[in-house]
Amino acid sequence: MIPVRGVTGHKVAVLGLGRSGLATARALAAGEAEAICWDDNPAARARAEAEGFACRDLMKADAFDDISALIVSPGIPHLYPKPNPVVKRALAAGVPVDNDIGLFFRSVATSEWEEFDTAPKVVAITGSNGKSTTVALLHHILEHVGRDSQMAGNIGRGVLDIDPPLDGGVVVLELSSYQTDLARALTPDVAVFTNLTPDHLDRHAGMGGYFAAKRRLFAEGGPDRAIIGVDEDEGLFLAGQLSEGPSDDRVIRISSGQKLSGDAGWTVFARKGFLSEYRKGRQAGSIDLRAIPGLPGAHNHQNACAAYAAARTLGLAPRVIEAAMKTYPGLPHRSQRVAEAAGVAYVNDSKATNVDSAAKALSAFKKIRWICGGLEKEGGLEALKGATGEVIRAYVIGREAAQFAMQLNVEAEVCTTMEQAVARAMEDAGAGETVLLAPAAASFDQYDSFEGRGDDFIAHVQARLAQ
Ligand code: ADP
Repeated sequence: MIPVRGVTGHKVAVLGLGRSGLATARALAAGEAEAICWDDNPAARARAEAEGFACRDLMKADAFDDISALIVSPGIPHLYPKPNPVVKRALAAGVPVDNDIGLFFRSVATSEWEEFDTAPKVVAITGSNGKSTTVALLHHILEHVGRDSQMAGNIGRGVLDIDPPLDGGVVVLELSSYQTDLARALTPDVAVFTNLTPDHLDRHAGMGGYFAAKRRLFAEGGPDRAIIGVDEDEGLFLAGQLSEGPSDDRVIRISSGQKLSGDAGWTVFARKGFLSEYRKGRQAGSIDLRAIPGLPGAHNHQNACAAYAAARTLGLAPRVIEAAMKTYPGLPHRSQRVAEAAGVAYVNDSKATNVDSAAKALSAFKKIRWICGGLEKEGGLEALKGATGEVIRAYVIGREAAQFAMQLNVEAEVCTTMEQAVARAMEDAGAGETVLLAPAAASFDQYDSFEGRGDDFIAHVQARLAQ
């Protein structure tokens, strides 16, 4: 655990008592603050009380009189579409509103670090898609070379729940736009921006707000190195804004598809399955990504560029990174090959919860029997149209499956349930084809989470294969 610093003797309110909220309460207590907890859900409050934390209804008139800060969980809106009433009350009372990420950055470095040979580093990764994959891949590379590495944030443990980093250790953080928007301290050593496509627009009042939230990661602390995907205008703009000029190698530009071998500066890009690194006009490294089974498709090649660049900033050599990538096992629910039978591959990409990530998954495979549908996100399905070239037929799930199917530009069958979709796709699939779950929608109309949806897909595939 990382004890929170600078809060001794204070009362700090914690709103939202999920995994990160409880970890925050414990870290506050370890910093000798009193955590005053609240969650609308009585079961969550009961869990906090069972650990000895005080709960207080933060909507009560004088609730903030003795409180020095309010720490808010990422699932709770702090501004858009409407601030949570407790957050509004804290702001009206002049109480600072922060989150566990802000507390982490204020607390992680200790005086012990002065004795270390190599100060620990924090790498923070944000972007619309590819965050978890990039984090997991970087962590895998670091572990492969025997560096002390911990993953935290949206993936792995809550940030305040990790162990204090060791000499030369690295903390790899996955940060969502909700988290970067609210944190009052954001000071990673290395910051990564993978890409930007529309998502969570309701929480940021549109694309401008969404970009602004992610940009804070670079603006607030000024990381030593900024690794930025420049395939969208926003990334290109951000890279330009952060660098002093074309030869400023504090900014590493990355791309999937573009050749970025300028005369100066530092770039990493993937084209036609090959990763290349250029520094000061010279090629510094190259990797054949086609030989890496855990990273299929151009989207994963972008993630490989981001993790590679981050590993390079930490002093790792190209050949060492390549060897580690070869053993990267992949993450569940992201391009996860779950079975192969009679020449048909079964791939679970339940994490493709938005249109862009589904489009990327579709472009990574050939001859696809596509299981899609669910709770449609804002912005419609238009952007999928250019990505369905390899789709033979769609099998649509979700409560609004008929409505979803109508918007597709491929032959689509309304299946509604996963069971039916898997059954139909398996009946139709022939050797050389791929049955791919890439929903292009959230799961909440039928499942608790994308993980639940992916597990259901796997269970139905395995059950039918066992018949
Ligand atoms: P995140 O943590 O940002 O949601 P993940 O690594 O979990 O990212 O991947 C989420 C989904 O996005 C997966 O379905 C995957 O197919 C897709 N994806 C992964 N990397 C990228 C990328 N670089 N660009 C676009 N889509 C991606």
